[in-house]
This record gives sequence, structure tokens and C-alpha cells, in this order.
Amino acid sequence: MDAAEIVRLNREYTLYSWSVQSAVDPIPMVRAEGVYFWDANGKRYLDFSSQLMNLNIGHQHPKVVRAIQEQAARLCFAHPAMATEPRGRLAQMLTEVAPANMKKAFFCLGGADANENAIKIARAFTGRPKIIARYRSYHGATHGAVALTGDPRRWPAEPTIPGVVHVFDPYCYRCHFGWTPQTCHRECITHIEDVIRFEGPQNVAALFLEGVTGSNGLIVPPPDYWPRVRELCDRYGILLVSDEVMSGFGRTGKWFSVDHWGVQPDIITCAKGLTSGYVPLGAVIVSEPIARYFDDHMLWGGLTYSGHPLACAAGVATLEVYKEDGLIENAAKVGEVLGRRLEEIKARHPLVGDVRYIGLFSGIELVKNRETKEPLVPWGGKSAEMNAIAAFLREKGLFTFFNVSVIFVVPPLCITVEQLEEGLALIDQALEIAEGG
Ligand code: PLP
Repeated sequence: MDAAEIVRLNREYTLYSWSVQSAVDPIPMVRAEGVYFWDANGKRYLDFSSQLMNLNIGHQHPKVVRAIQEQAARLCFAHPAMATEPRGRLAQMLTEVAPANMKKAFFCLGGADANENAIKIARAFTGRPKIIARYRSYHGATHGAVALTGDPRRWPAEPTIPGVVHVFDPYCYRCHFGWTPQTCHRECITHIEDVIRFEGPQNVAALFLEGVTGSNGLIVPPPDYWPRVRELCDRYGILLVSDEVMSGFGRTGKWFSVDHWGVQPDIITCAKGLTSGYVPLGAVIVSEPIARYFDDHMLWGGLTYSGHPLACAAGVATLEVYKEDGLIENAAKVGEVLGRRLEEIKARHPLVGDVRYIGLFSGIELVKNRETKEPLVPWGGKSAEMNAIAAFLREKGLFTFFNVSVIFVVPPLCITVEQLEEGLALIDQALEIAEGG
């Protein structure tokens, strides 16, 4: 099939997510390798968002491709009540790389259903109904996960599940409480405590937080944030859930982002980098007390594809690749260069209000005016300048992700400094053109 035919079939017969269908203009992608992919016309793209911030090990890693092929030849599927080697091994490997208190994994298909199941598990374990989450967050598109989601993707799904309360974020560039980093009293934390008190601590099952906020603007919390929310949750017997769907598996230069702050959540939800997207897979990893609770209580939840052998085999091989190829170390090392380059970009371009980065998880926030910090793109809206930047980058063969006023730089963890520089130079040019230079 040629490029035009591929696009025609996809547009005519499939529905695209989060899109007005007539505006969809997909790239007819046919092959990929490492940090690059190619379209059906032979055009090469540098993948600066690891597809959807999930392809952490890079495209078409031979070890994972082989593991999938071998597992497919051996056993494609097993009833979720079976015991299989890939399922058992992957769960064991997860408990080895996760914080020390983590004991067991429940496998599902992706990030949203990991959060759905985490909601059920938290409610069952605590016997409490309410969940607290943050406004600048995305936790998935299914009914419960979208209820946790704070961003406008929740609005069309409302009314969602009852009992979810939202709080403000540790968004230091635009502090909700009017402070600067010099005057900050961490109201973003004491405010959560106020909300807990007003909601009745005895009613609150869990606090769900993205380890590092991803699609809502790449918000890296201050260093004491996670330790202090851990203390807060302990004070009220509330479970702390880290949604590591985007921030997990080396993305931030550690296995999980909470490792930066030495915090042990009660539950970790993950997906994306778990198999690097080669086969869909998600997991809810639970602490020892939660695992023990289900020793003699029913787990009211299940999925036909829980523990899918093909997905788990891909997960085992992916985790081995992180270790064998030193990808998490590379993310930390190349991430340092990325941080320096982003600061230089900020210094050069008045359109850039802030840059935020941790490992290879980073974003460039654009503003109309540096003094007033007026966002380039209004909350839940669109902007012609941002569209022009996106169009320029695509034309030049740089593929990345945009949301609110942020250009994301989230490449595969195998990226070299040279490849990183190649992409950043294009972003530099795009900003110059948008500034009328
Ligand atoms: N949680 C976070 C932090 C995410 O970024 C996403 C997806 O981007 C999800 C959950 C939902 O994952 P999925 O799209 O696999 O359902």
C-alpha cells in the first residue's frame, strides 16, 4: 500500500482518539529502529516523545522482538487463573526493581485499567470510599481513571464516578498560592491536609499522584513534596498511590520517579515503559500489607487478559534490556546534557517561560509574555503559534508531543547526545521562527 492509501483507509474506517476526525492528519508509519521511524514515503523522523512517552527502550529492540516471537511460538495465551513462567518472572522482577515494600503485581492492559484496579484495591483495603487526586493530572480515559484525571479530558465524561476530590499541584512556576520559590510555605501540601480534614479522613481511601506530572505540563515536584505527602497519608491512614505510568521505568533516570525522594508508596500503577509498548501491558504493584489482605479476602476484579503470556514475556525482556543496555544510567547521563541545553534555549528565547526536566523527561513551557506569564495556549484551548511550531517540526522530521503550552522532549532512553542535539537544534529553529526571527 502506498502512503496515501494507508492514510485513506485509516481515516475512512477508524476513529482517532482525542480528535475531531476531519482534522486528523496521521503519519503513515511503516518501520522504525532505535530513536527513528520512517513513513511510507521513506521520510525519516526523530522520535522525541518515544511515541506516546512509552517506547523507553527505543524502536524494534531485537531482544524484545525475539522474546515476543519465541513466546508466540510457545504459548500465546493462558486463562488468567493459570500460572505461567513469564507472568511469575515479570512480577518477581518488578518487586526487585520497585521500592522495597512492594510485594505483588496485578497485571492488566494499560495505564487506565491499572488505575481502575488500584481504586478498587484501595477502597477494598481501607473500607473507605473517597479518592483525592490533583487538577493537573491525567490518569487514563476509562470511567474511574478519567474521574481521577484533573485536566479537561475529564469534562466530557462527567458525571464520572462519585467520591473523587481534586487538589492543587506543586506547580512552582505558577504557584496556586501566590508564592515564589523563595517565599514558599508548601501550601500545596498543607492545602491537601485541609481538604482531607474537610472531606473526613475516615472517608478517604487514597491519594493518587503522578510521580512526576507528565502530559499536564511536566511538573517536577520540589524535593520535600513526596516525603511530606507520605507523612500526611500516614497521619490519616490514607494510601499513597504513585501513578508511574509515564514517569516509571527509567524515564527520570531511576527505575521509578519516587526513587528520587526515597519514598515508598503503598501502590504503584504502571504501564507504558513496562513493555515499552511492544505489547499492551499494565500493572498494579501493591505493598506487602495490601498483598497480605488479599490472602483471605476476595479480590473483586479481573480481566480476560490479566497476565497475558505474550505481554509478560515482552515485559521480562524489556526489563532485562533496561539493565543490560544501561538505559537508566544513560537517561540520567544524557538527561544532564538535556537540562543544560534546555536552560540555554530558555536564555535565548523570550517565548520560553520555563523549562522543567528530570532524566529524559522534560518540557519547554511557552508564554506570550515572560513578565505576566500569560500562557501561549489557554487551559483546554489552542494557539496558532503552537500549531505553527508543531507543523515546522513535523515538516523537518521531528516527532514530539504538545499539550497545554508545553513542548515535550521525552526521547527513547537509548538516545545519544548527538541525536539529542539534532532534535534540540530543530526546536531552537522553530522557536526562532515563532518569535518572528
Ligand atoms: N497515567 C498516566 C500518568 C498517563 O500518562 C497515562 C497515559 O498517558 C495513563 C495513566 C493512561 O494510560 P493508558 O493510555 O495506557 O490507559
